[in-house]
Amino acid sequence: MSTTAALPTPAGVSGKEPDPQLHRIETIPGIGRALIVCTPIPLGTRILCEKPLFTTTSTSYKVMNADITKKLRALPVESQRQFLSLHNNFTGTLYPFTGTFITNALPCGPDSDTAGVYATICLINHSCSPNAHTNWNNALQKETLHATRPIVPGEQITICYTQTWPSYDRRAYLKHQFGFDCACTLCQLPAVLLKRSDARRSEIVSLDKLIGDANLLMSNPQEALAACHKLLIVVNEELWDGGSTPLLARLYYDAVQITITHGDQARASVFAQRAYEARVVCDGEDSPETERMKGFARDPSSHKNFGSSKKWKSKKAQVPKDLGDEEFEAWLWRVEKR
Ligand SMILES: [Zn+2]
Repeated sequence: MSTTAALPTPAGVSGKEPDPQLHRIETIPGIGRALIVCTPIPLGTRILCEKPLFTTTSTSYKVMNADITKKLRALPVESQRQFLSLHNNFTGTLYPFTGTFITNALPCGPDSDTAGVYATICLINHSCSPNAHTNWNNALQKETLHATRPIVPGEQITICYTQTWPSYDRRAYLKHQFGFDCACTLCQLPAVLLKRSDARRSEIVSLDKLIGDANLLMSNPQEALAACHKLLIVVNEELWDGGSTPLLARLYYDAVQITITHGDQARASVFAQRAYEARVVCDGEDSPETERMKGFARDPSSHKNFGSSKKWKSKKAQVPKDLGDEEFEAWLWRVEKR
């Protein structure tokens, strides 16, 4: 993927009811159950849209176990079997149902205390370089799964159980939380390439932290925007196979926040459009977060931070129309001429 070009137009199939013929469940020796692709899946395809078997809110383990037991009893026998067949990484250390739940549950939204377990999505194995992404769609009250790169028949569908950390951090986390030593393609890279990947991922972690600094957003937006630009370049280098990632959607939204806080509606509308396009790939057209980005692309002044500062004041109509790609990117990221 180019480090500067806009994202490719997402496949039109995203957002529709998923095709159940796209994959099958297979048992792989040494791995267990896995979702294997049957027909070619284009980037941005919605592969699954699944209702949780049940959800619970994290409290004490004892209260959680009582809640899970009650909800499990109320399920049809087939659903009970599906839950009980899931892996438990905490056998002997936690209540059995709680252990199975914690090993497999996915949060119902990024800041939610509530999490759910799923008959099919919970069978998807991990890769540090995944080909799909799960997201809680609050409007549908379902978990969606989208292809974040084209997937070919015979390939296993994978999601990432960690953040974009260097190998030593993510492997330690995976061992502790899920009890396995990751043997994905990224972890098995030759040492010299893995070292480069780790360096990029360390930089992603530091840049992400810098961009999240609310003081920097107000005091030095130029530096915050430059950090977003650098993050885009590093993320695209790390995704050497042309895939997408929710990280792109997030960094474009960070750029929306930086520019709109300082009154720059022109740049904020372009960044919001890119955040929207990245969200469509990862979460689908009907996800509330995708719709929110679409709204900011249409009217960046609707953002709650608009008006905090007039430092970079501009109107949406001031997006330049006669620049080449390179010049446009330089304008967009406020790259100073040397
Ligand atoms: Zn790995």
